[in-house]
Amino acid sequence: MIAPKIAAIETIEFSLPMLGELRWGSQSSLAVARHVLVTVALSDGSCGVAEAPPRPTIYGETAATIIAIIRDELAPRLLGQPATTAWERMAAIRNNHTAKGAIDMAVHDALAQSTGQSLAERLGATRDRVRVSYILGIGARDEVLAEAERVVAQGVRVLKVKVGRDWDEDIARIRDLQAMFGATVELYADANETMLAENAAHRLAALRELGLHYCEEPLPVEQIRARATLRAYGALPIIADDSAFTLRDLHRELEMDTFDILNIKTPRTGFTESLAMATHASAAGKGIMVGSQAGSTIGTARAAIFAARPEIAHPSELSFFLKLREEITERRLTLVDGWLDVRDALMVRIDPAQLRAMTVQT
Ligand code: MG
Repeated sequence: MIAPKIAAIETIEFSLPMLGELRWGSQSSLAVARHVLVTVALSDGSCGVAEAPPRPTIYGETAATIIAIIRDELAPRLLGQPATTAWERMAAIRNNHTAKGAIDMAVHDALAQSTGQSLAERLGATRDRVRVSYILGIGARDEVLAEAERVVAQGVRVLKVKVGRDWDEDIARIRDLQAMFGATVELYADANETMLAENAAHRLAALRELGLHYCEEPLPVEQIRARATLRAYGALPIIADDSAFTLRDLHRELEMDTFDILNIKTPRTGFTESLAMATHASAAGKGIMVGSQAGSTIGTARAAIFAARPEIAHPSELSFFLKLREEITERRLTLVDGWLDVRDALMVRIDPAQLRAMTVQT
C-alpha cells in the first residue's frame, strides 16, 4: 500500500472559559484555555484532529505563533509528503513544541483511520482504563481546598499539589488536604524548579514524612549536578518534566540519572517522540506518567489513549477538563473512583456547532 500524503493542514483558535485561574511555579498562571485545534487531511480522505495548548511561560508559544509557524514553516515542509515522515520533517524547525506535537497527533489520528485501526491499536495501548491525577494550583487556601473538594466529588483520587511560592503555606495546604480526605486521596508535589540545592533534600524529606508519593522537578533545570545528587540521595522519587521536554533532553537526563519517573506530555512531543521517550525511559528502568498539558477534552482524550500503554503505570494528568466551563467536543469525559475509561476517550469527537461557538475570530 502506498503511504497516504498530507493534503491539507488547518488551524482554528478557540477559547474556553475556566472555573477560576490555575497558578503554578514562581509566576505562571492560566485564566482561559485559548488553544488551537489542528486538523490534518490525508490524500486518501482520512482526517485527524489534535489540540495545541500554547504555554508562553513554558514553551514561549502563543495561539498566534502556533498558527504562524504551521502556516509559514511546517505546512510547506509537509504538504504533498508521506504522512509517515511528518515528525522527522518537522525536526528541521526548533522548539514550537505544541505546534509540532499537535500536527503529529493529528497525523496519527488520520493514519489510524486510514489503516482501519483504532487510535489505541495504533499507539499500542492495551489497558482499558487509566489512573488520573488532578493539578491543584497555588492560591488562597480556602479556594484551593474548595476546588479539591469539588474535583474529589467528581471522581479524582490523586492530587498533584503545586508548591513553591511560600513553603510554610504549601505545607499547611497539604496538611489541610490530608485532614479533609484522609487515605482516600493520594498526594504528590510539583515544585516547578523553585527549590534550592541547599534546602531541596530537607524539603523532599518533609514531603515524604507527610506521606506524599513524589515531587516533580524540585530544582532548576540547569543545576544538573545538584539534581543528580538529589536523586541519588533518595529522599523522595523525583519526576522529570521541565528537564525532559524532548527525547534529546531525556538522553541527557538518563545519562546523568537525575530522575525516577518521566512525565511525558503528548502535546509537546506528539505521539511519535512520546513513544520513543517511553521506550527509552522504560528500558532504563524509569517509571512513566503522561500529561495533557492542561488540554481540553479533545487533548485529554488523546493523551489518555497514549497513557493506556502497558509501561505507563503512574497516575497521569488527565483531568484538566474539570476546570473548564465549555468544551468543543460532543461529550465530556467522566472519572470513576480515580479512573478514566479509555473506551470513553476513544469516542470523543469534535462538535462542529460547539467549535464554531468557541472559535476566536481573528
Ligand atoms: Mg510540572
